[in-house]
Amino acid sequence: MALERAEALVLRKIDYRDSDYIVTLFGRETGKFVGIAKGARKLDSKFGGGFDLLNLIEVVFYQGSGLDFISETELITNWEELRGSGEAINAGLRCARAINKLLEEGQKEEGAYVLTKKTFASLDRSTAGSGVLELSFYLKLFGELGYRPQFSRCSKCGSSLRERSQFHFNPEAGGIVCEECAQDETISVSSGLRKVMMRLISTPQGQISRLRVTEEQMKRGLSLLRKFGRFHFDREVVPRRGM
Ligand SMILES: [Zn+2]
Repeated sequence: MALERAEALVLRKIDYRDSDYIVTLFGRETGKFVGIAKGARKLDSKFGGGFDLLNLIEVVFYQGSGLDFISETELITNWEELRGSGEAINAGLRCARAINKLLEEGQKEEGAYVLTKKTFASLDRSTAGSGVLELSFYLKLFGELGYRPQFSRCSKCGSSLRERSQFHFNPEAGGIVCEECAQDETISVSSGLRKVMMRLISTPQGQISRLRVTEEQMKRGLSLLRKFGRFHFDREVVPRRGM
């Protein structure tokens, strides 16, 4: 039995049998994996609160015939500031759920891992503006998984876009389409929202809190990405607000 050691984020945990947890973890090298932590729900468990959602932990595990068996954990951080803010923790939980929905077990996505860790660290550093950070997370996550929404050029013909007040957005084509390529697109994007989305893509997560995004842009941006995610991944990655 070869023991493996990995740094990982806790995406999900469910109660199993009398005293166990089944936990879904996401590590840089391991990708997403699911393990069983025997006795983790006992009061005197050696795991303590190690499996609180979003925690960054070091985990020691070995491969079972089905699930991996987790034998040890050490807490690296539980993002204490993040946990103190309802908005920040909910944003973090939605990000974790999105990752969990998008990745298959065993799927390795180093870029997405780094993005998620940076997002939690940014939420922990400044809990203000957690919604904008979340919006930016989905945008970048799609990009990391090979589907970066295109806002700077026409996603059909590649031509640069002339400035106008409204643009057409086509999830299937991959983003904005120019006037010549537009057919019957039903989603429109204002010039302001287009600029915001481009800025979110190019600004590192650690600096996102400096950007100003209006409530209306937030709402429309999330709606746009919800449709984009639904088309490319065939699932609800971006939840409706208030969920
Ligand atoms: Zn075009």
